[in-house]
Amino acid sequence: MAIKCNVEFREEFCVGCGLCVSVCPRKILVISDNKMNNMGCHVAVVIDTTKCIGCGSCTMICPESVIKIIKK
Ligand code: SF4
Ligand code: SF4
Repeated sequence: MAIKCNVEFREEFCVGCGLCVSVCPRKILVISDNKMNNMGCHVAVVIDTTKCIGCGSCTMICPESVIKIIKK
């Protein structure tokens, strides 16, 4: 059975570096074109959380510790 995970971002701390996007093996993270935080950064968002396998690559590479993976 597939692992079900929720991917959550503390968007106010995202610097929009795109590192999480580059390492996600499921290609479900993107930098939003139109969503910005109070720092003026385009933030990372998840486009389909149902495809997350909980590998943790995004959380490990994020320099701001913005991402939390919650296994259901
Ligand atoms: S835990 Fe893995 S599959 Fe899930 S969003 Fe992060 S990098 Fe992608
Ligand atoms: S790695 Fe972290 S700071 Fe960089 S875009 Fe992803 S969530 Fe934002």
